[in-house]
Amino acid sequence: MSRYWSAVVHGLTPYVPGEQPKIANLVKLNTNEHPYGPSPLALAAIQAAADDGLRLYPDPNADALKAALGQRFGLAPQQVFVGNGSDEVLAHAFMALLRHEQPLWRPDVGYSFYPVYCGLYGLQQRAIALADDFSIRPADYLPQGGQQAGAIVFANPNAPTGRLLGLDEVERIVAGNPQAVVLVDEAYIDFGGTSAAALLGRYPNLLVVQTFSKSRSLAGLRVGFALGSAELIEGLERVKNSFNSYPLGRLALAGALASVQDEAHFQRSCQQVMDTRAALVAELEALGFAVLPSAANFVFARHPQHDAAQLAADLRARAVLVRHFRAPRIEQFLRITVGSPEQCAALLQALRELV
Ligand SMILES: *Cc1c(COP(=O)(O)O)cnc(C)c1O
Repeated sequence: MSRYWSAVVHGLTPYVPGEQPKIANLVKLNTNEHPYGPSPLALAAIQAAADDGLRLYPDPNADALKAALGQRFGLAPQQVFVGNGSDEVLAHAFMALLRHEQPLWRPDVGYSFYPVYCGLYGLQQRAIALADDFSIRPADYLPQGGQQAGAIVFANPNAPTGRLLGLDEVERIVAGNPQAVVLVDEAYIDFGGTSAAALLGRYPNLLVVQTFSKSRSLAGLRVGFALGSAELIEGLERVKNSFNSYPLGRLALAGALASVQDEAHFQRSCQQVMDTRAALVAELEALGFAVLPSAANFVFARHPQHDAAQLAADLRARAVLVRHFRAPRIEQFLRITVGSPEQCAALLQALRELV
């Protein structure tokens, strides 16, 4: 607390990211980073961009990157917004599109940044309980009893559960709420889901947000993007241009563009993670864990006989990092990133000593 802080700052409860410890030989399965490196073409493009050109500002409109993303998703460049990681894109969306008189509706178990943005921008929110199996029930998000959402946000696959909502179920929510923006955060969609971007032609109220941090293995570059109707994208641009004209530097623009252009590397590395995920789930179940069905690059698992916080601490003592959330309904779960087969083997070896 400081008397120099604004009243808003006094009231904030900031998001706490997963640990990035500076310990060697750590098996790091706590922040859903990709176990394999980014496209070699992206690395080469970043290196090539590291020259005297850095004295110049980057393209404030990221035209080349927007065009490439538009082409990949069959959209016009005016339907693409890019930002400094999808967290920044989400923040702008909360400010520009989700902040209305009626409350924002979101699942009670979801990405923990959403309530933080609500606090930052002063949004009213309504947390809607997931079903007992941790799935989102689309019917709960339809207008009912004279109540309707001011806006809706959820991650698909959901975080930190990993559960996927089918495209038809996402469409039910979007079609049932023409009065509200529905933001679908697809940080993990490339690990087995179908993007709601396929619905964009029919629904001007749909905003799809994705990131280069997970499936494109570029968490360190900080690039995220949104896809939507030109009117939603223009709303985002208005906030962005009132905040920072240059959220993406020259290196980020070059690397992201080359990554989009290397579809083969992208497909291959996502498939490797999905294959490893199937093996990891089977091994965890053999150790007695209950594992939620995952369409993400992590699994959400609990052991009926072992306290999750204790397991996380014991794993950490064995140099294996996983994520544990002290939050209602999920405090007995561990969120475990799908690493390389070697990392998963190290995790399983440690768990065999513990359970
Ligand atoms: C990782 C993650 C993000 C943020 O990704 P960045 O692009 O690295 O900011 C957003 N939403 C969800 C659900 C995530 O898991």
